[in-house]
Amino acid sequence: MSNASPALAPVDHNHSASKPKPAFPFLDLKAQFDPIKDEIISSVVKTLESQRFILGPEVEAFESEFATAASSSAAIACASGSDALLLALMALNVGPGDEVITTPFTFVATVGSIVRLGAKPVFVDIAPDTYNLDPNRVEAAVTSRTRAIMPVHLFGASADLHPLLEIAERNGLSVVEDAAQAIGAHYKGRPIGSIGAIGCFSFFPSKNLGGAGDGGMMTTNDAGLAERLRVLRTHGSRERYSYELIGMNSRLDALQAAILRVKLRYLDGWTEKRRQNAETYRQFLTRSGLADRIGIPIEPANTRHVYNQFTIRVADRDALRTHLSSRGIPTEIYYPSPLHLQPAFSYLGYHTGAFPESERASRQVLSLPIYPELTAEMQSQVVRAIAEFYPSA
Ligand SMILES: *Cc1c(COP(=O)(O)O)cnc(C)c1O
Repeated sequence: MSNASPALAPVDHNHSASKPKPAFPFLDLKAQFDPIKDEIISSVVKTLESQRFILGPEVEAFESEFATAASSSAAIACASGSDALLLALMALNVGPGDEVITTPFTFVATVGSIVRLGAKPVFVDIAPDTYNLDPNRVEAAVTSRTRAIMPVHLFGASADLHPLLEIAERNGLSVVEDAAQAIGAHYKGRPIGSIGAIGCFSFFPSKNLGGAGDGGMMTTNDAGLAERLRVLRTHGSRERYSYELIGMNSRLDALQAAILRVKLRYLDGWTEKRRQNAETYRQFLTRSGLADRIGIPIEPANTRHVYNQFTIRVADRDALRTHLSSRGIPTEIYYPSPLHLQPAFSYLGYHTGAFPESERASRQVLSLPIYPELTAEMQSQVVRAIAEFYPSA
């Protein structure tokens, strides 16, 4: 990056030096795997010995354990979080001519699911303190074509669901929760994903409950929707060679279920560690006098944040990131551009300035390492390197 901070310029003599190796990784999946390796291997071997790979007892057991953990009456596993969103909208009969309201500050799959069904994504800006859909702006976006609202629980923080459910109720819409980043999060004491019509989860390896590859889950308390989701994920078929719906092939592999069943038992402990690490960052950042310089993530009132990301906000984000990288501190940017400004969605006709909060967030956010195995010493290293960048703080 060319716009190095003036604060950094005087000490940055060695232009030819290559970036140092990170002191530790941004996410350390090996550290998570090592202590549970034997359990996972025996679960995988058991599944291999059964030679039951498509749905079957491992997937059913995982679905039932997941439903219990998520306080939902049904959980239906599928091939990815992206497919979970797609299947959810298919189950609700969303199609050409329909509109779905969502946020432009999210991973592309949220919006891709809408477009793939021939429906139109209608963006609404985020609230700057939570990065989640701003419920105050949603009702103005409802039209006679709106079919659903799709809030995202971004970074592990619950979206403000009650006002969204009220708008949905008043206008006859469904709420589909994109819970890919927020397994275990709560809203007013209830697990997210169990509050809207359908909750959609992802087991992509970097999510709080990650598989050994792709995987997804849908939760619902509506028995009719649960049945439709099951039929849709297996070619639209309830009985072999009888097709009542146009479905797809999107199932969770039994091998993934075998691994995820083991990991689900550890999820609460991992989530607690993420929450402790967030608290440690807050203390370190505040003690270092950085609380005025840096937007520290909040836990929205009456929610439980599960910190898939610990995302700070700074005015000089790119310069800070370059500095941290020079000190061996890994960081990531989620997301460097809001979706309404991406070429794939230019056909929707949105321009720069349409969603100022999302656009500002894209310029200012920086995610710090937050995984459960991160130590207080590593966190202290991160905060010392940030403090170095703001010498007068
Ligand atoms: C990861 C993610 C998805 C997609 O999940 P995959 O399992 O990778 O398909 C959807 N929405 C959000 C917000 C995500 O973070």
